Amino acid sequence: MKMRWIFFIFFTVATNTLINFDAYAQSLSDISISSEVIPQGGICLISTRNDGDVPPDVDWLDGKVYLNKSSDGRFFQGFISTDLTDEPGMYQLTVKAPSGDYERIFDIEVIAKEYGERRLTLPDKQVDLDDETWKRVQKEMAVVSALWEAPVLMPQWTLPFQIPVQGEIVGSFGRKSFINGQLRSPHTGVDLRGASGTPVKAANHGVVVLTADHYFTGNSIMVDHGGEVFSMYFHLDAIHVKKDDNISRGQVIGLVGSTGRATGPHLHWGMRIKNARIDPLMLVDLSKELER
Ligand SMILES: [Zn+2]
Repeated sequence: MKMRWIFFIFFTVATNTLINFDAYAQSLSDISISSEVIPQGGICLISTRNDGDVPPDVDWLDGKVYLNKSSDGRFFQGFISTDLTDEPGMYQLTVKAPSGDYERIFDIEVIAKEYGERRLTLPDKQVDLDDETWKRVQKEMAVVSALWEAPVLMPQWTLPFQIPVQGEIVGSFGRKSFINGQLRSPHTGVDLRGASGTPVKAANHGVVVLTADHYFTGNSIMVDHGGEVFSMYFHLDAIHVKKDDNISRGQVIGLVGSTGRATGPHLHWGMRIKNARIDPLMLVDLSKELER
């Protein structure tokens, strides 16, 4: 009698493990990656079937990639991102079952991309900062840097990502910047034309982590979409949200303006994924491709 029970328990445990094994082996054989070649400052999407509600462990450039369940619950999805300045070359993407029993490795190629350059002319005092302004700028930079160090929020975003302003692109991502003839930081967002007062809509769901008036970026909003995905909205005329607000995709969070160091009214929209500054328009294009 006793032996039969022991056998029964053993059998049940063994079968369950086997079932989980199989589900994982299958979902890991069913991984899709939108592209195995990514330009500097670019992204690709990794998608795995959702079996058992536990996402696989995904590792890219020595760090975890956070996956989120798709809106219909059928997949886990996440972004593989490269910074504008990442070295071109071959890199490994590792996908592992949480148990560690299954692992798949993909070779992803990061390729160089020439984004061009821009030349701006600004009043000298906005470029060669006096001591007091320089101190202010350093303080503001520290406030922003601290956001990247904060504990990671669970992913709030779902696809698609939406463009915050339907305006002509007046400044593309990634260009080298020469200001009054001097080489400065590259342009790490996209500039969208919009008349002053045009509503700015959140690119996705998330939590507001910063609202501020900064020297360079003017009235600024930064949103944490979870899983190390952030969006930034600069030069606003007005801010309609406050820190810690939960916001939804498409919600009006502010108005287009020309505050801070701006040559005219426009929205500077930036995206940062896993500490990489990426082209926001790639997120919109990828979202559209997936809808087709
Ligand atoms: Zn800009």
